[in-house]
Amino acid sequence: MNDHPGTSPVVSLEGISQRYITDAEDVVHALAETDLQIPESQFVCVVGPSGCGKTTLLKIIAGFLAPTGGTARYRGTPIHGPGAERGVVFQQPNLYPWFSVRDNVALGMRMRGVGKSERAEKAQEYLELVGLGDFGDSKPYELSGGMQQRAQIARVLANETDVILMDEPFGALDAITRARLQGDLLALQRAQHRTVFFITHDVDEAVFLGDRVLVMSARPGRVVLDQPVNLSGSAGHMLGEEMRRLPEFLELRERIAGAIEH
Ligand code: ADP
Ligand code: MG
Repeated sequence: MNDHPGTSPVVSLEGISQRYITDAEDVVHALAETDLQIPESQFVCVVGPSGCGKTTLLKIIAGFLAPTGGTARYRGTPIHGPGAERGVVFQQPNLYPWFSVRDNVALGMRMRGVGKSERAEKAQEYLELVGLGDFGDSKPYELSGGMQQRAQIARVLANETDVILMDEPFGALDAITRARLQGDLLALQRAQHRTVFFITHDVDEAVFLGDRVLVMSARPGRVVLDQPVNLSGSAGHMLGEEMRRLPEFLELRERIAGAIEH
């Protein structure tokens, strides 16, 4: 499959499907056969009704879950487990309670053998990016839930992974923090050419962030709309509020919202 490694998509799903067996031994058909290719540096947003298999799809790409059908690949190589090139931001904060916020953010770098001063510098840079520059010495329990979530985001970004998988990362944040982080994430993704797979239930957020928006149907989930987003002059030059007033933006939002309902 991988004759030309340089031209492989970053993530490729071939006929992926997922059935779960519940504790009551019922079969839940979570994902219908799904094909998806994510090219280099693309920002893909996924929207769809609750329970349609979005998190399942993310777990398969992350390597936390082996699909019951099909093959998932990272740069041409089958995915058999988590990997340091794929960072995951979960819906809920998951910091180590006994480490400071800074040490949480620096943990991945420490495991990779990055030196102490570089670690501290980079941790601070990413803490500032998420607005937690003054909280490096705090313990996670001293932060609010939203701040803990931002620290989790800083930790994953600080690892500078090739792929960033995010499961409704901004869902629990207030509107102002959320808008700021959206802008910062987009700028970072553009500057560092990261490939991002981003789940959200917010259509506005999907159109604002995505180069492409996938709409999934209710269970068994499948992609019912694969919508490219090419908003003129977007790419971080335009402020969020400006972009949200563009007629093209409103039209895309309508089309995507319509596809979710059907
Ligand atoms: P989403 O993230 O879109 O809300 P999920 O991927 O979490 O959806 O779940 C898809 C479907 O699979 C849901 O109906 C959910 O209840 C079911 N499901 C998820 N994980 C399991 C599991 N471990 N065992 C049984 N059913 C599960
Ligand atoms: Mg989910």
